[in-house]
Amino acid sequence: MPSIFSKIVSGDIPALKIYEDQASLAFLDISPVSRGHTLVISKDEHADLYAMPPETLAAVTRTVQRVARGLRAALQPDGINIIQNNGAAAGQTVFHYHVHIIPRWEGDNAVRLWQPRDADQAELRALAEQIGVAITDLQSVNAQGAPRSASA
Ligand code: 5GP
Repeated sequence: MPSIFSKIVSGDIPALKIYEDQASLAFLDISPVSRGHTLVISKDEHADLYAMPPETLAAVTRTVQRVARGLRAALQPDGINIIQNNGAAAGQTVFHYHVHIIPRWEGDNAVRLWQPRDADQAELRALAEQIGVAITDLQSVNAQGAPRSASA
């Protein structure tokens, strides 16, 4: 079944579109956390970042920059958050790749992403090692020609 965003792409449900090209579409979020809160999606349906073909990811990212510049020119926010959720635990509710562009104004308290905490330096070193090894392992699997879906 097509995602709600695929239905926006096909025109089956309406959206306030602000930009589109061959690979991407930008429209206003239906429940904005700030004025101008915009979503940029891939026109093709991919569940999340992990599933995105690199060329499509690049195209969507170019659109994110284009739209962010447009929002800055139109609304003069003090800042902009770019947020991209992957997985329900991270707050993803629509499983079709999308990027939130959230204009921010001083003191608006629209988004609070994390609370910094003190970290154990040895734990940080071990984490850096563990993640670096995982990335290297994935690269070598890719280099051996495994199917993209299994290795991306
Ligand atoms: P997520 O939590 O998956 O990162 O974000 C999904 C976003 O899609 C939410 O901010 C939600 O308001 C928005 N959204 C969900 N359904 C629709 C819709 O039908 N139209 C529009 N314009 N936005 C939607």
